[in-house]
Amino acid sequence: MFGVFCVNSTQNMQDIYQQMILEHNKNPRNFREIPAPAEKFEGYNPLCGDHLWLYIKVNENNIIEDISFQGKGCAISKASASLMTTQLKGKNLEEAKSIFEEFHKLLIHELDPELDQHNLGKLKVFSGIWKFPARVKCASLAWHTLKSGLEGKKESVKTE
Ligand code: ZN
Repeated sequence: MFGVFCVNSTQNMQDIYQQMILEHNKNPRNFREIPAPAEKFEGYNPLCGDHLWLYIKVNENNIIEDISFQGKGCAISKASASLMTTQLKGKNLEEAKSIFEEFHKLLIHELDPELDQHNLGKLKVFSGIWKFPARVKCASLAWHTLKSGLEGKKESVKTE
């Protein structure tokens, strides 16, 4: 059961994943502003210096019509934001939340994308990141920014 991948193929897989991260860093998808009334959320990771803004437009059916980001950061934080936007566009907020939960499990090594069922798509390229704890914050920055932004929005809508 554990011999499915020989050392070499695992190595190649990690190389492919790394290439994809570098490619998204170089050519980030959805790297642009979305004009108001889209929501804009700021995220900052002082440990690495990653600083980004997320833009999101959710329609009346709770579907993410458009999502994008801008900012500066390391390759991991940018690739993660880029892949997040491609994966979440067109999804509803419930689906986005469950993908966030899966991604979080992936980052802390509680989900194995080769063995467990998931809707992570290309986000699985971050499957080896748990080996580098300092980089986990880089990979999760865009996600935490989105989550806390959306939660804050809900709170501000709520009137006492
Ligand atoms: Zn970083």
